[in-house]
Amino acid sequence: MNGLGQRVGTDVGAWRADFPLLARTFRDKPLVYLDSAATTQKPQTVIDAVTRFYSWENANVHRGVYKLSEEASARYEAVRPQVARFIGAPGPRGVIFVRGATEGINLVASTWGRANLGPGDEVLITGMEHHANLVPWQQLCKQTGARMVVAPILDDGSLDLDAWLTLLGPRTRMAAMIHVSNALGTVNPVQHMVAAAKAVGAVTLVDGSQAAPHMAVDVTSLGCDFYVFSGHKVYGPTGIGVLWGRESLLESMPPYHLGGDMILSVTFEETIFNEVPHKFEAGTPHVAGVIGLSAALAYLDDCGLARVQAYEHDLLAYGTALLGEIPGLRMVGTAPDKAGVLGFVIDGVHPHDLGTLLDARGIAIRAGHHCAQPVMKRFGVAATARASLGLYNRREDLEALAEGLMAIRGMFA
Ligand code: PLP
Repeated sequence: MNGLGQRVGTDVGAWRADFPLLARTFRDKPLVYLDSAATTQKPQTVIDAVTRFYSWENANVHRGVYKLSEEASARYEAVRPQVARFIGAPGPRGVIFVRGATEGINLVASTWGRANLGPGDEVLITGMEHHANLVPWQQLCKQTGARMVVAPILDDGSLDLDAWLTLLGPRTRMAAMIHVSNALGTVNPVQHMVAAAKAVGAVTLVDGSQAAPHMAVDVTSLGCDFYVFSGHKVYGPTGIGVLWGRESLLESMPPYHLGGDMILSVTFEETIFNEVPHKFEAGTPHVAGVIGLSAALAYLDDCGLARVQAYEHDLLAYGTALLGEIPGLRMVGTAPDKAGVLGFVIDGVHPHDLGTLLDARGIAIRAGHHCAQPVMKRFGVAATARASLGLYNRREDLEALAEGLMAIRGMFA
């Protein structure tokens, strides 16, 4: 906001000014933040919305008869249709507030999964899933006797779509797929995949954690049954996220957590559960998180996700070209359709050393397995360095990264 209380940064390139943390310096150097795939920084509007909530609006929801609680409940419930609009969902009833993508996937695996899977059934995933969309299915399969089937990745980090289609079949009950890979940046053809999965009668879940910050998502045209994303990766608070589900499926699923707010009536003998979506929101929800998420989605709407996507696409191409000039650097993930992520290794330098030495220059990147150990194994590395983009990054950030990498490479030569 400027001194007149007006939003600044509706112009591409001016967005950066909306993020106070980016003005910090580290070791007397301006911060170059290139770890938005881990979490995004927050615009002032989100910070203000959360502060205002706790300063002026705080009350528990769905239970008070007094005005303050009614207001908080109305504010909370008003975010459901906003989220529905943001992801192109037909209505608010399919929007469930969860802690994040991880909880959303666990909810589906535990409720839909336990009720619907058994011996002879298959869950099809891709070889590039984040652990959040792998471990719940793997453990569910162990418990139910179903089988988890994994489609391979090609050398450039694309999904082997032909193999995926071959693995899809009448036994596939669930096809769970990552929309954009956090380790490789690959954008998967999820619309095509969902249509193919539907044709064999499979239910589909799309992990949109790395898609929602970078592109407009429309669950209606994707045709999926479940879609998840995390608030903190779309410039909102931590501890809040969204599971969107097709209402008919949600209605057929047993609840996940049990307790207050998810009931209509309780006796010692019997409980009648509340209707969807409340059936899946037991206990006091993260009201401030929902309010902050609302501000974040409004911010992204203001920026315009089509403009964000075009801007980041240009940055990604620029960064890819710059890193391509560094001798001994190998990109991990070069699929033709990518978003937001530059993963790489440099001959003779451990990615963790790269991370530490870049930090000394005020540059924050991620080094490690990125919660995708099978992806690392597929590419024959223990870890990669990953620079990931947000709408506030500039070409200068990528130039600083390339300059830093050149200098570090020289130290190890
Ligand atoms: N899926 C993907 C693709 C991710 O990148 C992440 C986080 O990095 C997650 C799931 C898990 O998100 P969260 O930790 O916010 O639940």
